[in-house]
Parts: sequence; structure tokens; C-alpha cells
Amino acid sequence: MNGDKLKIALYWGAACGGCDVAVLDTDEFVLELAAEADILFWPIAVDGKYEDIRALPDGALDATLFSGAVRNAENEDVAHLLREKSQVLIALGSCSAFGGIPGLANAVTREEILERVYLDNPSIELGNRTVPRTRVPVNGTELELPAFYPRVWRLSDVVDVDYLVPGCPPAPERVQEVLAALVSGTLPPRGAVVGAAEKALCEECRRRKADKRVARFVRPWEIVPDPESCLLEQGLPCAGPATRGGCGARCPDINQACRGCYGPPPGVQDQGATLVGAWASVIEAKTVEEAETAFAGLPDVLGIAHRFTLPASLLQRSCR
Ligand code: SF4
Ligand code: SF4
Repeated sequence: MNGDKLKIALYWGAACGGCDVAVLDTDEFVLELAAEADILFWPIAVDGKYEDIRALPDGALDATLFSGAVRNAENEDVAHLLREKSQVLIALGSCSAFGGIPGLANAVTREEILERVYLDNPSIELGNRTVPRTRVPVNGTELELPAFYPRVWRLSDVVDVDYLVPGCPPAPERVQEVLAALVSGTLPPRGAVVGAAEKALCEECRRRKADKRVARFVRPWEIVPDPESCLLEQGLPCAGPATRGGCGARCPDINQACRGCYGPPPGVQDQGATLVGAWASVIEAKTVEEAETAFAGLPDVLGIAHRFTLPASLLQRSCR
């Protein structure tokens, strides 16, 4: 191994693997990266053991990209381990940065999840009452499973994080920019959101805005949207007004409303609350009843508005 090469790691906590695929989707740049950096640990792509990382001196890794949220004790233990061993820790993707899709589980309790998945589910064997436990005796030994936490946390809730790379997943071009900046030593000061824009998505969206009002929100399958006009002004709950730009407005470009995966733009503390305000501003309701009718088109306001950021919101989790 060339001693001058960077040493990096990639890890996934509560994640789908899409962020790792975004790294691979940088195509031949991955080979350029391999020429500049040794990847010492990347469970989805490279063999490696936790023991290998534990054996490293503190700070031995130049950088770790951590995708996924923190849902269980293993996710948190590895977050602490990689923080100790890494000079730079990057939260890669919206699960890691904000809680992401796994963070929607904060809308229900741990007990409700276990009940639904293991006890009250049409696909389980009739009469089976097996629920995971942290310690299980098997053939004279004891197997251990990581504790399933009562809620989902962001990476920055459990360790100090140096940079956030938002997106679900982050656009591969943005991932490439961040990795290239890491290799060239040109990352901005710690604490920055990187691989994204400093403005809301509406400012980079090419659709025409006409200050139009809507009587009712609609689901995507209810209309065929006009390809030129603002989707929000056609009744689709587009998250552009309260979402950080940088993806290139790809979803609006293909007639899909922005889902909000880049998280809040600068100056917005709670993406979901700000979105509900933005959506309320386009309805033409004059009475509470008309407003209720308008929002009746959104069957799950909490889930749609906080789709990627519930653990990072002022709510943090539902009050159950
Ligand atoms: S941010 Fe999206 S793509 Fe990345 S791990 Fe989470 S769900 Fe998957
Ligand atoms: S609300 Fe959506 S469609 Fe309208 S301008 Fe913003 S990003 Fe584009």
C-alpha cells in the first residue's frame, strides 16, 4: 500500500444501499478514486471486519462517508468507532444527515413496529410469537443481536459530524465533486453542507410560476401535469419551496413533484413545517372547511412533509 494515499472508509447504518450505489454511479471516477485513496472498509463492496478498524490508531482514516441513520446499537457503536478513527466524518445522504426514510418510523413506537412486523402480519406463520431479543441462547451458546432503539437518530445526534451531503441518494455528480474535493484537500470549512446548493430548489427549477391558487391538492395519479407550469400550482404537493437545491431539479424535469430529499435549504430549521406553510399559501380557501377540503387531497401530511427529515424536525417523533 502506498503510504501517501488517503485512507478512507464507507459504512451504512440504517440504509437501503442507494448512497453506496451513488458512489459506484460516479463510474470511472471510482477508479480515479482508487488511485488516490485506499478504501480500508466498505461493507457493501469490500471485505473488512470491525476488528480491522478497531486495530487502527485513532485518526488513521483520512475520511469516512457514513450513509444511513442510527436505528440500533450496532449503528451507534460503529458511528463512535469510525468517528474515533477518522479525521473527517461525512454524513452521506439524507438518512445520515436528517434521518431520511427510516426516520419516518419515528411516527410510531418501537413496540408498534415489533407488533406489526413480527406478531400482527399476514405473512408470518400462524401462532408464531417470536420477537427478536438482544440475547438468545442457541445450542449452549448465546447469540447477540443489536438493541433496536425506541426511535431513529441522525448521525450528528450520536457523534460529531464534519460535513453533510444531502440527497436520497445524493446525485452522483455531487458525490464525485465531494470526493474530488476530499482528495484534493479543498473541502470547505468543517460544518458545511457540501454537494448541494445554497438556495431552494424552486430557484433552480425551470418551470413557470404564475402565482396561481388551487382548490385542492391531488395525488400524482389523479392528473397529467402540464409540463411547463409549476407543479405546486397544479395541486401537486411539490417540496421545492422548502428543499435545498443542487440536484438539478431532476424530478420536476420529468413531471414529478420534488419529494424533498435534499432536506431544508439554508435558513430553514424545520423542512416539514415550512412546507406545510408553503402549501397552505397556494390554496384558495377562505374558510376552515375549504382548507380542510384542500388538504384532504394529502392523506398523510406528516409523512409527505417530513418524508426525509422527521428525526431532524422540531417534532423529532410523533407524540404517542
Ligand atoms: S439517503 Fe436514500 S439512498 Fe441513501 S441510504 Fe437513505 S434511503 Fe437509501
Ligand atoms: S414548487 Fe416545484 S414545480 Fe414549482 S417551481 Fe418549485 S420546484 Fe418547481
